[in-house]
This record gives sequence, C-alpha cells and structure tokens, in this order.
Amino acid sequence: MDIDINTVRVARSRADCVLRPGEAFLGGGTFLYSEPVPAEVTGLVDLTGMGWEPWSVDGSGLRVAGTCTLEELLAGPGRLGASSEGPYRGLGIVGECVSALTLSAKVARTATVGGNLALGLPAGSMVGLFAALDAVAVVWTPGVATGSTGRAGSREVAVSDLVTGAGVVDLAPGELVREVRVPAVALGRRTAFRRASLTPTGRTAAMVTGRAGERAPRITVTASVAAPLSLYARDHDMLDRWIDWIGGNDGWYEDTHGSHEWRAAMTRRLAHEALEELGGAA
Ligand SMILES: Cc1cc2nc3c(=O)[nH]c(=O)nc-3n(C[C@H](O)[C@H](O)[C@H](O)COP(=O)(O)OP(=O)(O)OC[C@H]3O[C@@H](n4cnc5c(N)ncnc54)[C@H](O)[C@@H]3O)c2cc1C
Repeated sequence: MDIDINTVRVARSRADCVLRPGEAFLGGGTFLYSEPVPAEVTGLVDLTGMGWEPWSVDGSGLRVAGTCTLEELLAGPGRLGASSEGPYRGLGIVGECVSALTLSAKVARTATVGGNLALGLPAGSMVGLFAALDAVAVVWTPGVATGSTGRAGSREVAVSDLVTGAGVVDLAPGELVREVRVPAVALGRRTAFRRASLTPTGRTAAMVTGRAGERAPRITVTASVAAPLSLYARDHDMLDRWIDWIGGNDGWYEDTHGSHEWRAAMTRRLAHEALEELGGAA
C-alpha cells in the first residue's frame, strides 16, 4: 500500500457526499489501496458509511447499492438466481461474473459493485453482468441534475453506456454511483456467460454475457474491447458480421493479458456459444 493523503471522511448523509477540492470517493479501497494514490488526491470520502441496503428486490426489479460488496452480491442476488427457472433466473450469471474478477475471498468481501463500475476497466465484469441485464446506474450528481431524464441531484445512465473506454467512465467529477437497477423483465430472462483468459486463474481477457429477448438474444462483449459492445443477434451470420465489424474498426483491446488476434478469436467462439445457448424462446 502506498497511500499519501491528509483526510478520510466517512459519509453519513447526502451532503457529506459532496467532494471538497482534492477528495475522491472510497468504496472498498481494493483498487485505491493497491495503487499509488494520484498526486492530486489528498482526501477520501468513505461511502460505506452511508449504510445503504446492499440490495433489494420487488415487483419493479432488483436494486444493488454502489456499496454492495461482491460477497454480498453473490450471497444475495447470486443465490436468487440459482434456479434455472422462475422470476430471477437471469441472475444465474452473477456467480460467474463475480468469479471472473479472480479476486480472493478477502478482496471480494470488501470490493464494491460501484467501485468496479467506476473504475471502468475492460476486465470489470460487473459491467458485463449489469449490461446484460439491461441495468441502469443511478448516478448522484453534486449539483442540480442535467439532461432530460435527470431528477434534481441524480441522473440515470445505462450500464452499457457508463464505460466509454479503458478506464474511462461517463462520470463527471463529484458524481457517484448510488445504485444499479435491473428491471424485473430482465431478471426473468435466460442469461448466458462465457469467458476466456490466458491461464485458468488469469485476468479475464474476453467475456461474453447474453440475455434472451422477445425477438433476439442480446449479446454483450467486454474485456476484449475497451468499452462494452452489445448486439441483438438474430442469427449466427449476423453475429459473425458484427465480430468482423469490431475488428474492421480496430476495436480489439490488447494488453499483457492477450493479443488482439487471440481476443478476437476467443470472442467470436464465446459469442457463438452464448447465442447457441440462448437460441429459442426467451
Ligand atoms: C487481486 C486483485 C484483483 C483484481 N482483479 C480485477 C479484475 O479482474 N477486474 C477489475 O475490473 N478489477 C480488478 N481489481 C480492481 C478492484 O479491486 C475491483 O475493480 C473492485 O471492484 C473495485 O471496488 P472497490 O470498492 O474496492 O473500489 P475502490 O478501490 O474503493 O475505488 C476504485 C475507484 O472507484 C471510485 N469509486 C468507488 N466507489 C464509487 C462509487 N460508488 N461511485 C463513484 N466512484 C466510486 C474510487 O474513487 C476509485 O477511483 C482487482 C483488485 C485486486 C486487489
């Protein structure tokens, strides 16, 4: 740990969540405390003090707080999705998406959903999970909301649009991920998960999540691309054309966890497998 800051404030109210100059939000700290803190960050605001209910479910769908830990996500929504039938079967991929992070149990006990989304890493599997489930992120804004769908002090953004590049997110300074909302209809859909990494416990290099739909399954690709990409895939030919299009637009991500050629090949295979699994009725 290399941490050189002056203050840590524990947030207890909405007013406490307004950042002062030099402050950044603290979720579980599993990333913040594993990297040198950026020079401009001189203080942290601990969101876990807000005491938000980690998750809840009702007729409108599932809500997952930004401070919900990966362990809580697994024990709650992950368990709800254990049955392959019923109103929560879409959550059947929660466990695989948590495992895709290859965190130790100790880290998973602390790491939060909001922290994973806010980091916007290509291998951030909470992005692929919630994008597949048509989730929106409720973002608390520090001032008056902007945008037509925003209420005062908050706005909503589709999780699939939240990450716009490798480590780049659609969050303005001072904005925080309050919660993620999954609509009830998506909870009841069949879902599919596939992933590839260079070694069995290595960082995820290609991840495909899918959800059955009324007209066509929706396939979402993460980890092999800088920002999530989704397609309503009517058939395998359409899927192939889309994969070709990603390559044609220089879309494959590359780092030490896999070359772009390998990631392209893996993504194609995994996407076809997911589509095959989701074929048929929603
Ligand atoms: C061994 C190990 C393996 C890892 N593997 C992966 C991996 O495979 N893929 C991956 O994506 N990450 C990985 N990580 C990074 C990190 O642990 C996870 O992304 C984790 O989910 C981050 O959550 P956190 O709550 O600990 O975030 P923190 O470290 O608390 O914060 C991370 C960033 O998000 C901001 N932030 C936190 N919460 C919010 C919020 N609610 N709203 C807005 N901003 C917020 C912080 O200001 C900070 O910039 C790994 C970390 C470790 C230690």
